[in-house]
Amino acid sequence: MFTCPLCHTEYQTKRGIDNHTCKEQQRIDKLQSTIGMTSYRLFIMWRELKYKKKCSVDKEQFSHSKYFKIFYDIVVKLKYLEIDNHKEFIQYMVAISMEPVMWTDTRIYNLYYNHIDSLSPEEQCNRGIETLLELAEYVNCDASEIFDKLSTGDIIHLIKKRKLSPWVLFGSDKFKNKYAEYNPEIRKNFNKNIKLQFWIESFKNNPAGAILVQQALKKANL
Ligand SMILES: [Zn+2]
Repeated sequence: MFTCPLCHTEYQTKRGIDNHTCKEQQRIDKLQSTIGMTSYRLFIMWRELKYKKKCSVDKEQFSHSKYFKIFYDIVVKLKYLEIDNHKEFIQYMVAISMEPVMWTDTRIYNLYYNHIDSLSPEEQCNRGIETLLELAEYVNCDASEIFDKLSTGDIIHLIKKRKLSPWVLFGSDKFKNKYAEYNPEIRKNFNKNIKLQFWIESFKNNPAGAILVQQALKKANL
C-alpha cells in the first residue's frame, strides 16, 4: 500500500502513487517556486511596512491564507511590468492606503508612475544614473559611451518603465548631442512617447534642480 503523506490517498501500486498529484502538493510546489518565494517576501514586506513591526507569519501560514493567491498574482504582474523596486512600490501602496487585493488593477500603476514622475529631480537623477551605469557595465562600455549604445527604442522603453527620467536625458550634454542628430520624424515620435511637453514644464519650474542634475551627470561622466 502506498499513501500520499499530504492528503492520505492510498494506492495499491507504486505507479499509482507516482502519478498522483493533489491540491496539497500543488500548493507546496507553488510556494517553493521563485514566484512563490517572492510572494512570501513581499507579503512580509507589506505587513511590516503597514504595521511598523515584525511580522511572524511563517511560509506555511502564508500559503494557507487568502494572501497567497493575491501576492502570487501581484508578483506575476510586477514582473511583467518590470517593476523591480518592490520596496518602493509597496511603500507607496501603504502610503496611499491601497490594499493588496487592488495591486493588480492597471489604474494603480498610473498612480505609481505619476508618483515616481513627481519625485525630486535629485531622486530621479540618482535612479537614472544607477540604471545607466548598470547598463554600461552590462554592455561593457565606458559610462561616457552609453548613449551611443542605446537605440531610441531602448531609451523610450527605459523612460516608460521609469528606470530613466527625462531629467537625466536633458541634463546630459552627451544625450543632447544625440538628440540633435535625430531626424525630425524620429524626434517627433520620441517626444510624443516620453511626453516631452510635461517635462519641459517640470524643467522650467525647477531651474535649481536642473543645475543639480547637470552637475551630477558630469560627475558620473554621463
Ligand atoms: Zn496527495
